[in-house]
Amino acid sequence: MNVVIFGAPGSGKGTQSEKLIEKYGLHHISTGEVLRDHIARKTPIGQIAKTYINQGQLIPDSLMIRILEEIIDNEPKAKEGVILDGFPRTIPQAEALNRFMARRGDEIHHVIGLEVPEEELVDRMIKRGQQTGRADDNLETIKNRLQVYHESTTSLRDFYISEGKYRQINGHGSVDEIFESIAEAIGDSSEK
Ligand code: AMP
Repeated sequence: MNVVIFGAPGSGKGTQSEKLIEKYGLHHISTGEVLRDHIARKTPIGQIAKTYINQGQLIPDSLMIRILEEIIDNEPKAKEGVILDGFPRTIPQAEALNRFMARRGDEIHHVIGLEVPEEELVDRMIKRGQQTGRADDNLETIKNRLQVYHESTTSLRDFYISEGKYRQINGHGSVDEIFESIAEAIGDSSEK
């Protein structure tokens, strides 16, 4: 099973991914984590990524798609089922993902859409910034990230609704309650 976990920044994608990995044994691919790792290792990709991330902007599609393609093609565990967290964020990324999956005779089965009210997103990210020191969890960058999400990423919801893959989840509640809704949505639609 291949799953995309989708939602605004701060919607709980990382937290719910961990629970999905535990229950379904999926391989986690978080493009945000991959980029933060490049920044920490001071690689050429990291140098480029840093400027965009610190401004709350998206890394250009051409670069992001190349990074993802390399992970999908070279990670043996990716063949056993993946959870994509933070990718795709644009329609060209979603189209590229469909091509990469089709190339190996596979597909994305579910897109889990975590829907959370905006004020709660801001509160959660501010708290996370205080707890983890994550550089882009400050109010100014958070505002940019939310704007970018509305401009470039929300259209993916319709893209995946039209593919019949979008599972809308109420992302407001306890971690366990939200996870229960996800498991139900995946289970129900898998049984159809
Ligand atoms: P995340 O950890 O998913 O919230 O990502 C943190 C930051 O990394 C984002 O604000 C973007 O600057 C960058 N990023 C992560 N994934 C992508 C992607 N699929 N496309 C473009 N930029 C991305």
